[in-house]
Amino acid sequence: DGTVEAMPGFGKKTVEKYVKALETFETRPERLPYGVMRKIVAELNQTLASFDAIIRFEVGGSFRRAEETCKDLDFILSTNEPERIKEQLLELSLIDEVIAAGSTKVSLILKRDVHYIAVDFRIVDDAAYASTLHHFTGSKDHNVRMRQLAKERGESISEYGVETEQGLVQPNTEEELFARYDLPFIAPELRAGRHEFEQDLSRLLTEQDIQADVHMHTTWSDGTLSVEELVDACAARGYTWMAITDHSKYMKFVNGLTEERLRAQRIEIEAAREKHPDMTILCGVEMDILPDGSLDYEDEFLKEMDYVIASIHSKFDQTEEEIMQRLENACRNPYVSLIAHPTGRIIGRREGYAVNVDRLIELAAETGTALEMNANPARFDLTASSLAKAKAAGVKILINTDTHRPEMLEDMKLGVLHARKAYLEASDVINTWSAEEALEFFGRKRLGVD
Ligand SMILES: [Zn+2]
Ligand SMILES: [Zn+2]
Repeated sequence: DGTVEAMPGFGKKTVEKYVKALETFETRPERLPYGVMRKIVAELNQTLASFDAIIRFEVGGSFRRAEETCKDLDFILSTNEPERIKEQLLELSLIDEVIAAGSTKVSLILKRDVHYIAVDFRIVDDAAYASTLHHFTGSKDHNVRMRQLAKERGESISEYGVETEQGLVQPNTEEELFARYDLPFIAPELRAGRHEFEQDLSRLLTEQDIQADVHMHTTWSDGTLSVEELVDACAARGYTWMAITDHSKYMKFVNGLTEERLRAQRIEIEAAREKHPDMTILCGVEMDILPDGSLDYEDEFLKEMDYVIASIHSKFDQTEEEIMQRLENACRNPYVSLIAHPTGRIIGRREGYAVNVDRLIELAAETGTALEMNANPARFDLTASSLAKAKAAGVKILINTDTHRPEMLEDMKLGVLHARKAYLEASDVINTWSAEEALEFFGRKRLGVD
């Protein structure tokens, strides 16, 4: 194109190659998705727990704030033996490069699988631990607000503690630091430098409020657990209701279910109901919205199902108009209770389809359709800002794990953290309600009642 032609002194081929390399470099994820980072954090947590000279430690930074992606990791460790800790850190097996190795900070590049991850370990006295952890948890904007609060009292906050007229005060915990400024403990995921200083945090949703997971796959399509195993696992988590939602027939390559197979699956679900009389188990399905905008089953069949999710898994390259027509058709179907993973993005891998989220929120509000907060860290959609818009529009949310393997059930807590970033309360989130309340909500749409 014009730019390439205009560059003097280089052959066109060379320039094109250079431009191409730059583009690839720019699209390469320099920030890693939370889901990749948490594996290395889990490994490091395990290793650090075995260092007996460590008094307290925790990861800070954007990972502790449960951001979608993290540029690097910051670990805060307290000890009386910094030299010994430093030596132990330099023996970590994942080290690719040592950037700095002092007695207060060890900076390493670790290599795990194909990823290079920058990790800073900050080694402090235990007296400074809480202030250092708070400081390196951030966010930057949160810390600015905290420093303003301190300044109003003639104090100053640093990573070492609180400088007062009487000298340095070192809070033993973050709770003590917040309490000094008449604040409740502000959970890390809320530390954005805005609402956390103004809102009543005690009203926010917590993981304990969750009563159900209603987007999960079994061995009938592409999950690894049988119906019985999945129900057992949800019962063990203390859930009172749940939905089995395997893929629909359009998804042939993951063994999507025909009408006949969904009917056959009910026999297994019925057996699970007998085994768990206290659990309400919905016969559900994750139904594809086809490329032409039609749905994968006829209404005549959908009315047999207790609960229907609609999702897009195909033709991501369609125009916004085409994508929105598909989503609108799904929202307008009385049997569709939820639009799952509404943007289709996979963090660090693909952008998702051309959804107009504001329009989707309008459609959801108008039709009484719920939207999903998909708790899988590779998806995390809707984003916190979209969730806040949905709440403002009165749209109800379901937080689901989209479980395909048993360990994915644990992602529920991550979904809750993201919902908290949007200041959602239990009343906004259908899977904190009882099964009866949820079925009444879905039933109103089915019956066309406002
Ligand atoms: Zn899906
Ligand atoms: Zn799914």
